[in-house]
Amino acid sequence: MFRLEGRVALVTGGSRGIGRAISTMLAKAGAEVLVNYAKGEAAARETCDAIIAAGGKAEPVGFDVGVTKAVEDAVAKIAKDKGRLDIVISNAGISIDGLLLRLKEEDLDKVLAVNLKGAIMLAKAAMRPMMRAKFGRIVFVSSVVGEMGNPGQTAYAATKAALLGVTKTLAKEYASRAITVNAITPGFIETDMTASLPEEAKKFMIEATPLGRYGTPADVAAAAMYLSSEEAGFVTGQVLRVNGGLYV
Ligand code: NAP
Repeated sequence: MFRLEGRVALVTGGSRGIGRAISTMLAKAGAEVLVNYAKGEAAARETCDAIIAAGGKAEPVGFDVGVTKAVEDAVAKIAKDKGRLDIVISNAGISIDGLLLRLKEEDLDKVLAVNLKGAIMLAKAAMRPMMRAKFGRIVFVSSVVGEMGNPGQTAYAATKAALLGVTKTLAKEYASRAITVNAITPGFIETDMTASLPEEAKKFMIEATPLGRYGTPADVAAAAMYLSSEEAGFVTGQVLRVNGGLYV
């Protein structure tokens, strides 16, 4: 079940954390995976080397998701070189946290540029090859924070909530082309992004999570794998919560 042989997938922020787990799982199912990174080329190479060592196909692709021209050029090159782009996992994301009264406009702009504008422009660029192929899978990695809010994360929550509107809109706009568009809203997942949270905050999150543990990147990857599959062809415009019951 869930085989992806012959499929070409782009995973933004595929070098570390959740994106690395998604890249690894899609490759294990047979997809050729383009592992995107912004600054961490070494981590992207490490991810690709591990995939290749396990018998899969992967290559690193460096570009900043927040720079539209870079996104367009990268997607056009993938479509040209590989002849297709079947799956896009829009996973790259940043958070710059702080209470609203301390929020700097430049930080708001940075978070919006990567998490929201970048995700939209990536989807736009990917539509052309997907429409040609009359097949496509787009998965946005949003967050439980976009659904329930979180003090100190105004900018981040704004982008993650907005992605859900984007998901539902694009699902309706491209359903006739057999392109599905879905979102995943992870809860608290153990990655570099959450590593620096104070111990108290981590303890609070576990206590608030009915399943009583952090999520793993693999928990999120399994959801991305399903939404990328042939078998999920009748699922579009949906939000798949991978949050241990934190928000239901
Ligand atoms: P992470 O460990 O901090 O990794 C972030 C990834 O995004 C890295 O591969 C990074 O690459 C890449 N990235 C950052 N800015 C980029 C840019 N401008 N262009 C291209 N790539 C960029 O984060 P994570 O925890 O795995 O999170 C992945 C996604 O899941 C994010 O969208 C995040 O908001 C979401 N999420 C995470 C959690 C959680 O608890 N961890 C919960 C809900 C949602 P470089 O190293 O090259 O910069």
